[in-house]
Amino acid sequence: MGDPERDAPAFVVQKHQASTLHFDLRLEVDGVLVSWAVPKGPSTDPAVKRLAVRVDDHAMSHLDVEGVLGAGPGAGTVVVWDLGTYRDDTRRDGRTVPTADALEAGHVRVRLEGRRLHGAWALTHTRMGGLERNWLLVKVDDDGADRDRDLVADEPGSVLTGRTNDDLARGVDAV
Ligand code: MN
Repeated sequence: MGDPERDAPAFVVQKHQASTLHFDLRLEVDGVLVSWAVPKGPSTDPAVKRLAVRVDDHAMSHLDVEGVLGAGPGAGTVVVWDLGTYRDDTRRDGRTVPTADALEAGHVRVRLEGRRLHGAWALTHTRMGGLERNWLLVKVDDDGADRDRDLVADEPGSVLTGRTNDDLARGVDAV
């Protein structure tokens, strides 16, 4: 089986300033990055529900992409806002369900071990507004929950380099 830590699948949250600012949550599932765009980013408060819009899967090579994206609808700046591994945490009949199966059922729980995000989050396929792509992202009430902190506001930059989206944009302007 190998080292369980090394075998844990990856996740990333990329802060993406495109036509609008949003956070892309991506989970490694069966060799691709299953992705949601979260306009307000993840909250550590279990009382806060965040819209998470399912977007196209991305290749694993996108995991640590940070910089200026020049073309297409995603044109803008991207920083790696959090990076780490996760564990399947979806339970059904007392058993842990693989995330690939949980996605199909529309109820996913993952336990994140990132640099900033810790503990379990639930993703629920709500189809709010009749839109197939709409899910909700909510913190599970566990040791990683924090009702008093606004992590998105407190931590603006990259976990890899400390750079912000504005730093990247200014870099482009200077060329
Ligand atoms: Mn995006």
